[in-house]
Amino acid sequence: MAKAHILGFPRIGAQRELKFAVESFWRGETDLAALQQTGETLRQRHWAVQADAGLDFVAVGDFAWYDQVLNTLALLGAVPTRFKFDPKKLTLADYFTLARGNPEHFAMEMTKWFDTNYHYLVPEFTADLRFDGGVDWLFEENAEAVALGHKTKVTLVGPLTLLYLGKIKSGEGEKKFDKLDLLPKVIAGYQNVLKRLQAAGVEWVQIDEPILALELAAVWRNAFVPTYEALSAAAPKLLLATYFDQVREHTALLHSLPVAGVHLDLVRGAGQLDDFLKDWPQDRVLSAGIVDGRNIWRADLDAALLALQPLHEKLGDKLWVSASCSLLHVPVDLAHENKLDEELKGWLSFATQKTHEITAIKHALNGEKDVVAEQFNAAALAVAARKKSPRIHNPLVQKRLGEISTISAARHNVFAKRIVKQQARFKLPAFPTTNIGSFPQTTDIRQARAQYKRGEIGHLDYLNKMRDEVRLVVQKQEEIGLDVLVHGEPERNDMVEYFGEQLWGYGFTANGWVQSYGSRCVKPPFIYGDVYRPEAMTVGWSEFAQSLTSKPMKGMLTGPVTMLQWSFVRDDQPRDTTALQIALALREEVVDLEKAGIGMIQIDEPAFREGLPLKAADWPHYLDWAVKAFRITASGVQDDTQIHTHMCYSEFNDILPWIAAMDADVITIETSRSDMELLDGFGQFAYPNDIGPGVYDIHSPRVPRVEEMQRLLRKARGVIPDAQLWVNPDCGLKTRGWPETTAALENMVLAARTLRAEV
Ligand code: GLN
Ligand code: ZN
Repeated sequence: MAKAHILGFPRIGAQRELKFAVESFWRGETDLAALQQTGETLRQRHWAVQADAGLDFVAVGDFAWYDQVLNTLALLGAVPTRFKFDPKKLTLADYFTLARGNPEHFAMEMTKWFDTNYHYLVPEFTADLRFDGGVDWLFEENAEAVALGHKTKVTLVGPLTLLYLGKIKSGEGEKKFDKLDLLPKVIAGYQNVLKRLQAAGVEWVQIDEPILALELAAVWRNAFVPTYEALSAAAPKLLLATYFDQVREHTALLHSLPVAGVHLDLVRGAGQLDDFLKDWPQDRVLSAGIVDGRNIWRADLDAALLALQPLHEKLGDKLWVSASCSLLHVPVDLAHENKLDEELKGWLSFATQKTHEITAIKHALNGEKDVVAEQFNAAALAVAARKKSPRIHNPLVQKRLGEISTISAARHNVFAKRIVKQQARFKLPAFPTTNIGSFPQTTDIRQARAQYKRGEIGHLDYLNKMRDEVRLVVQKQEEIGLDVLVHGEPERNDMVEYFGEQLWGYGFTANGWVQSYGSRCVKPPFIYGDVYRPEAMTVGWSEFAQSLTSKPMKGMLTGPVTMLQWSFVRDDQPRDTTALQIALALREEVVDLEKAGIGMIQIDEPAFREGLPLKAADWPHYLDWAVKAFRITASGVQDDTQIHTHMCYSEFNDILPWIAAMDADVITIETSRSDMELLDGFGQFAYPNDIGPGVYDIHSPRVPRVEEMQRLLRKARGVIPDAQLWVNPDCGLKTRGWPETTAALENMVLAARTLRAEV
């Protein structure tokens, strides 16, 4: 009999209960007991979902107060030593201090978990770090589940992934060491944990090693066999979980590991199964991640059954059915979506629904299809309806896409010629000053938007309020003396949602929250159909803003890659097709802005870099279509229309040729926190177009002094020719307050002016 399980369930709660409980604890409004109670309730509820759905195990160890990597460190006793906590007596308050910092200690660094939008806390490795035991939370949670009558499978972040993702923090004069030097200590730490789990009667432990989806250097690959030999010696049965991509190049390695089972992602790595099964040891469990753990579409149960049947014939009860990865990356429960129409809702599946899909497949494999016949029928109907729904297939979009080769993805002339015309038109001073787009989103603005959404104020009232905001922003910028203005984006809640709401093919959930980091959640839209722009989206706002000033006013759009990257995407066509559809829609907006007299148009692409695939071998394909999508968006305008783009980071060294190929007339990037150092790559590459390296950090309310920005600008002048340099903050100002914004921008303008005098 095949079994069913999941790699993990979202911990945040369908109504973001964990978020609210944790934040109220941080504010001191509730005590530890109340917080613990919420955690326990959520764990119980999530185990009940899994048990009720008929999974053979409930996952224990997927719960974390802030982050699963930090939980693993707390479990091992390997929390950063600079905080001077006793790892064996770590309290929940200490744990939060590690995650969030306090006046004496900056927080642990946070970064993206592979190619997801989840952020983990980066382990800090010092020579004195120990791995000899920490908190007992995992053991307590397992006991909790057992006491409720559940059969548990404990999940752990694997030792090699933990090491790989961490950073060495050796102090001045300390002996240098390599991360893998820590491996013996790490293994001993995991051995202790596994022994305790075995003593507690745990039969299976799932160890996640997602680094196997990466192209690993030989030292890392070679570390697997000795590590897993040491771990499996005295331990419960180990299920080694890989996910987020195929692991073909590690097939032989995975076959040779002394583990009781391996999990494969059969969504991202759909084609890897046949090769993997050759010489697969028959006594091992193979966990088939067939239900998509990274997306929100209802599973095609018939197709899944068809794919797994031959596998089941081969493996029998050694086949486990699962989702591709932990369900952490999808929302909790579709049942809470009361605003979606029934048709759209019928196409979707969140974590709770996915547990039922997994067990349905299991039952069907086990010859109990009659038990789940209704589920199979409903899924088949939904899948068939989605395939032919006119909401998905828009002949107009198809036609345009078919003709895309007739559209030039290049501007009429090269940058060197364009910039001459643009300069003649705009007559900007040297080192022109500008902003990235948004200005402070005051409570007033947010309130007005909420009232408008709830229907408490009418459209015209709302429009007037926002126009007042634009007026204020324009007036302030003129007073400050900026050269190129923005309208401030008061009408935008979120840079993707704002456009998604105006495009056909985008859907929105009421409660589709997904944890981003700690207590922070995001609610990504989903793209279900061909993307079509029924009418202009921003032209009215930009036109109005431009009418208030004789300075150039930048039109402001979100680029195609970011529109794609920050949404759940269609699984019935390749990502690049969807990106090109969005690009075609945005291209029309760009052309409409130009027609309305807007001479500068910024197309933001903050998610451009995070779209890079996990394997470097897949980079060129991605970069090619991502650049093409941008160029399609931007190239419909005349030479003297200036195209800007913005990205919120500056680590471009490895992809500079593609950044240059985007051919934006001006790119603004974040550089202040790297002390302009990240600009060096642009200099060495002789980046040809204009650049605005951010001269101040907008993440803090601190007002930078004129001299600080002058120093950064002088550094920039050492790398980039004067004629190419712009002056701007690192990013948009929407999270800032007005007083610091005005003061900082005044200083920035002063810095630019003194620089002009130096030329
Ligand atoms: N134009 C946007 C803003 O200023 C850009 C935001 C971003 O880069 N994330 O808010
Ligand atoms: Zn930005």
